[in-house]
Amino acid sequence: MLQDLPTRFRADCGRCQALCCVALNLKPENGFPEPKPPGTPCKHIDTRRMKCGIWKEREAHGFTGCAPYDCFGAGQLVSKVMTKRGMKWPKLDPATADRCYDDMRRLMRIHVMLAYLHAGEVEDPSLLANLEAIVESYTRTGFLPPPDQVIRMLMMHNASVIAIFKAAGGGIIPQD
Ligand code: SF4
Ligand code: SF4
Repeated sequence: MLQDLPTRFRADCGRCQALCCVALNLKPENGFPEPKPPGTPCKHIDTRRMKCGIWKEREAHGFTGCAPYDCFGAGQLVSKVMTKRGMKWPKLDPATADRCYDDMRRLMRIHVMLAYLHAGEVEDPSLLANLEAIVESYTRTGFLPPPDQVIRMLMMHNASVIAIFKAAGGGIIPQD
């Protein structure tokens, strides 16, 4: 069951650099008043604190998609790796920041799949082992395998990632 998942699959926004508010593609159909391209900070983010600047009033501003969003723990993992390397997104050069946002988008998809594999909703032991190995390697080294390898694996399972993400009530589906 999803509610019995290990804590590493639960979003912990207090330990995150608010990466979903920067890395992801926000679309009006997902509960946002206007489109925001991936890798661009939401106009309401407080860049000094790396936190939402309007959290209590966000719905009045038309941001109904923020609260339903769930990164399944990917945000705090990427933030932890970034912090360990002394990286905060407002201070990064554009190329390094883009790489971090790309990591966030890919790890979010990986975490969604892992969460469902662990919850027993998708039966595929080899996929689970492959994805766990990617996360373990990223946690240890701060690097994902070459993008084409991860993207190829994710694309192979893209339909199920989107289906399970929607089933979980995910408000935002990141686009690579
Ligand atoms: S990326 Fe995840 S942990 Fe970070 S702020 Fe967004 S929902 Fe919270
Ligand atoms: S309104 Fe706040 S929580 Fe929502 S995307 Fe913008 S900064 Fe993030």
